[in-house]
Amino acid sequence: MTSFSYDFSGTYTGKTSFKTGVFIGGEFRHGASKSTIDVVNPATGKLVTQISEATAADVDDAVKVAQKAFDETWGLNVGGAQRAALLNRLAILMDEHADELAAIEALDNGKTFGWAKGVDISFSIATIKYFAGWADKIQGQTIETDEKKLIYTRHEPIGVVGQIIPWNFPLLMFAWKIGPALATGNAIVIKPSEFTPMTALRMCELINEAGFPKGVVNVLVGYGHTVGQTISEHMDIQKVAFTGSTLVGRKVMAAAAATNLKNVTLELGGKSPNIIFDDADLEQAVNWAAHGIFWNHGQACCAGSRIFVQAGIYDEFLERFTAKAKSIQVGDPFAPGIDQGPQVSQIQYDRIMSYIDSGKQEGATVHTGGERHGTEGFFIKPTIFTDVTPEMKIVKEEIFGPVGVVIKFTDEADVIRQANDTVYGLAAAVFSQNINRALETAHKLQAGTAWVNCVNQLHANVPFGGYKQSGIGRELGEYALHNYTNVKAVHVNLGHKM
Ligand code: NAP
Ligand code: MG
Repeated sequence: MTSFSYDFSGTYTGKTSFKTGVFIGGEFRHGASKSTIDVVNPATGKLVTQISEATAADVDDAVKVAQKAFDETWGLNVGGAQRAALLNRLAILMDEHADELAAIEALDNGKTFGWAKGVDISFSIATIKYFAGWADKIQGQTIETDEKKLIYTRHEPIGVVGQIIPWNFPLLMFAWKIGPALATGNAIVIKPSEFTPMTALRMCELINEAGFPKGVVNVLVGYGHTVGQTISEHMDIQKVAFTGSTLVGRKVMAAAAATNLKNVTLELGGKSPNIIFDDADLEQAVNWAAHGIFWNHGQACCAGSRIFVQAGIYDEFLERFTAKAKSIQVGDPFAPGIDQGPQVSQIQYDRIMSYIDSGKQEGATVHTGGERHGTEGFFIKPTIFTDVTPEMKIVKEEIFGPVGVVIKFTDEADVIRQANDTVYGLAAAVFSQNINRALETAHKLQAGTAWVNCVNQLHANVPFGGYKQSGIGRELGEYALHNYTNVKAVHVNLGHKM
């Protein structure tokens, strides 16, 4: 166990100080391997702190502790109203620490303090509150067969669940995962991304303070090939929920299949189309399209990275969209007026730059951006490519950075075909002031979310997830609860004789 203290300066001038380590049974300890992980500030590329690394042996310990908590002090021992009260208390504590959580997120991930507070932290709090509301409403059905039988279903917690989350929305993904799992009475072993572990670690003390029984939430910061793999393979974990790339999602599913056939839900990547028809409100379409691709520095699974614009407005759209991209202020996440901070890591920076290079090599035109911003940290200018063709890597693959492609189209049926010509199916958007055209298009797009005249809208009570290779199952909303309960049918014989 170590602790982390930091003095912020800038928009947020507070301090933070909290314990770090491998969080098992309500306490921090050193990981079994005694090794550490570097936490880096992506705005400078410099070391912020080092934290204990969890490894496979820690996962085993955490699963045992979680199972004991589930059997003795959680699971079927605790009523829904009590789970609701604990979750509500956690939401209140998060709210009291909102500025501090936002500052930690900005420091660790590189997103701006303003966005972190306004979206990540407030949506995380809303998510925990929303699932608190469900905790005492987890109920089955009574099912009629005949008068001599009573049959009812129970929605029972699964037990110990494993959760693996990425770095792009560190606290938000943590909240999306623990909210439904705790509302339904499961115990958790969760692995944050080692690139952005700090808000999850800060949450541990808040979880204790809220009064959750020890061992109900265990937080293990470690690498995917160790902690992530061990969670996916573990014989005593009955369910795994994963958010991350399609590549790793496959590994999680294969590991589950090869071991105990644990339930798997996956929230994976995307290459979301954004279709803008001639009859769209152009100014609104430009503003939303920019938000669609540049929000969170393009590090959003639902980013509207393929922008299809109808021929009649193409030139004007491109001119305005380019001006909008150039107006985005890139810089220090804590400085006032900044819209876009650095990419999360050197690895991501290199990955995005290699996509930009491949676009150039394959003959696309860099309309704006396409290069680094500044001299230190992992900053990339908002980038727009034109003159692209369907087989180019920048059109087919998820870049996960501030890089969009703009494609001209004429025919409605053809743009729907192009939009659906992807292995992904996470989200899609359509802009038109003709409601029939907008809705017909929205219904034909193969995606778990279809936005009409907006993008990147998410709510705690609305399901989110993917068609095709963008995932399995849904997060948020009532749908999320189904992932975390087993349905048991109880048959009571009231008089049938054998
Ligand atoms: P990633 O490389 O797939 O990693 C996601 C998580 O999985 C990390 O914690 C990672 O740990 C872990 N992991 C890596 N190898 C593993 C293995 N063999 N077994 C189990 N876990 C393993 O994705 P990322 O780069 O962090 O995040 C970006 C991706 O996530 C994008 O593709 C994006 O679209 C997707 N995403 C989807 C959603 C959604 O809701 N659909 C939301 C956010 C992000 P390491 O860091 O050690 O590799
Ligand atoms: Mg970091």
